[in-house]
Amino acid sequence: MIVKALDAWRNILSTENVLTDTATVSAAQTATFATKQRVLALIRPGNRAEVQECVRIANEYQTPIYPISCGKNWGLGSRVPVQDNCVILDLSRLNQIVDYNEKLAYITVEPGVTFRQAYDYLREQKSNLFLSVIGGSPDASLIGNTLERGDGFGPHGDRLDHVCELEVILPTGECVHSGFGRFANAKAAKISRWGVGPYFDGIFTQSNLGIVTRMTMWLMPIPKYPQLFTCTIIDASRIDQLIDAVQSLVLQGTIKTNSFSLWNCYKILAAEGRYPWKKMLGQTPLSLKQLKGAEPWFGNGTLYSASREQGLAERKLIEQALEGKVDQLIFSDEDSDAFKENTFIGVPSDENISSTYWRKKTPISSPMNPDRDGCGVIWLCPVLPFDGEQFLLAIKIIESIFDSYRFEPNLGLSFPSGRSIHVFIAIIYDRDVAGEDQRAMECHDKILHSLIQEGYIPYRLGIQSMNSLPPTQDDYGKLISTLKRGLDPNNILAPGRYDFRSEWFDTNY
Ligand SMILES: Cc1cc2nc3c(=O)[nH]c(=O)nc-3n(C[C@H](O)[C@H](O)[C@H](O)COP(=O)(O)OP(=O)(O)OC[C@H]3O[C@@H](n4cnc5c(N)ncnc54)[C@H](O)[C@@H]3O)c2cc1C
Repeated sequence: MIVKALDAWRNILSTENVLTDTATVSAAQTATFATKQRVLALIRPGNRAEVQECVRIANEYQTPIYPISCGKNWGLGSRVPVQDNCVILDLSRLNQIVDYNEKLAYITVEPGVTFRQAYDYLREQKSNLFLSVIGGSPDASLIGNTLERGDGFGPHGDRLDHVCELEVILPTGECVHSGFGRFANAKAAKISRWGVGPYFDGIFTQSNLGIVTRMTMWLMPIPKYPQLFTCTIIDASRIDQLIDAVQSLVLQGTIKTNSFSLWNCYKILAAEGRYPWKKMLGQTPLSLKQLKGAEPWFGNGTLYSASREQGLAERKLIEQALEGKVDQLIFSDEDSDAFKENTFIGVPSDENISSTYWRKKTPISSPMNPDRDGCGVIWLCPVLPFDGEQFLLAIKIIESIFDSYRFEPNLGLSFPSGRSIHVFIAIIYDRDVAGEDQRAMECHDKILHSLIQEGYIPYRLGIQSMNSLPPTQDDYGKLISTLKRGLDPNNILAPGRYDFRSEWFDTNY
C-alpha cells in the first residue's frame, strides 16, 4: 500500500516533495526525548488543493498521515507522530500571509507562517499592531501553536481566544470554513468568531479531526505607554502571598491576562547560561538551597497603558498590592533598553531555546535545534486554581519528585485569567548521557500521575501521554469516538492524537 501511495503522491507533488531518504526520515523520528514511532515518509504539499489530493490518496491507500505546520513542538514530541507508521504531512510550504488589516487589527496566515515572519511583515508595513509571540522558537508556526492551544505573551496570549475563520480540510478531503467564512461575501468573517450556527473551531484544536490550512489571528495595538516591571521573592515559602496579590490584580484587569509570569531560579539560570559543571565537580543536581540557602522566584510583567496618566495609576495599584510581598519591585518605561527585545510586545526571541542546552557539555550550534543536538526536554503543563495555598501544595509535590530524580525543577507560571495558573514544568537533561532518557521520562510520569491524583490535570499533552489521563465520569469517550468515526471513516488522520482511544467503548476501528 505505502509504495502505491508514495507513487500517487509523487504524481501530484513531484519527487522532490515526497521524501523517503534515511536522513530526512530519521530526523523526523527524533524528538527531545526517546520515541519509538517509525515515520514512513515526509510529504510536502504546496497549496490547499494539493493538501486535499494528499488526503484523498491517504484514504485510497489507507495510509495514515500526520500534519505538522513548522514542526517545532519541542518538549512535547517535535514532529514525531503519536502512532507508528505514519507519513508526515509537512505544511511548511504553505507560508503566505494572505490578508492583513491595520484598522480592524487582524492577519490571515497559512500553516508555514512563523512568528518571525509575521513580526517582520508587520514592521515592514509600519504597523502599530503586534502579534502575541511565544517563549519557543521564532520559527514555530502561528497555526501549529494555536492548534496545540499554546500560550503566548501579552493579553492575546490565550491564542485560541483571538482567532477566527479557520479553513479546514476534513479527513475525507472536503473543505470547510468556521464562523462566517462559509459565505463568499461575508464582511464579518475575519472579525467575528462565532458566525451563525454551531461554533466548532474548538474541535479542530488538540484533535485529529481536520487539517487547518488558513486562520485569521487578531492583533493588538502596541501600547502608547508600556511599562515593564520585574520583581524578586527570595523566600519561596512566601510565594503564596504574592500569588494571591497577583490574582486580585489580574481578576480586576490591572495586570492583563498572560502579561505577567513567574520563573523560579532554575528556569532563569537555564535561560541565561549552562550547568555549572566545574563548580559542581561534575555532580548533579544543582541545589541553590544547599549552596546559597534560598531558591528565589522572579516575576516579569508588562503594563499596556493608553497614556502616561493611566500607566502611572496602574503602577501605583501594583506597588500597593505587592508591598511586603516581594523583596524587590522595579518598573521601567518605554525608554528603557529592555523594550527593544521585549517578547511581551511581540518581539520574537530564541533566547529561551538556549535553555534546552542547560546540561549539554558541547558548544551550542547555530541555528539551535534541540532535536538534532540531543537536548533532553520534556514539558508538563498542569493548570491550577489561581490560589496561593493550592499552588504551594502542588509545587511541593513537583519539587520533591524532581529532587528524588536528581533534576533541577525548571518551573514557570503564567496567568491566562484571574482564575487559573498555567504551570510550565520542564525536565531538562542531556540525551547523550546513558540512562537519562529513561530517568527523565520516569520523573515526568511520576509528576504527571501525582498531580492528576490531586486533581491537577494537564491542559496540553506530549505525544507520549495521550492515554495517561484518568477515566472520565461521563460519555466523553463515546462522543470523541463518534466524531472521529464519522469524520474520518478510514482512520487516516493523526491516529491517537488527543483522541483518547483508551476511553472508547469499542476499539474496533
Ligand atoms: C524553550 C521552549 C519554550 C517554549 N515556549 C512555549 C511558549 O511560550 N508557548 C507555547 O505555547 N509553547 C512553547 N513551547 C513549545 C513549542 O515549541 C511551541 O508550542 C511551538 O509553537 C510548537 O511548534 P509549531 O508551532 O511549529 O507547531 P507544530 O509542531 O507544527 O504543530 C504542533 C502540533 O499541532 C498539530 N498541527 C500542526 N499544524 C497542524 C495543522 N495545520 N492542521 C492540523 N494539525 C496541526 C500537529 O499534531 C503538530 O504535532 C516551547 C518550547 C521550548 C523548547
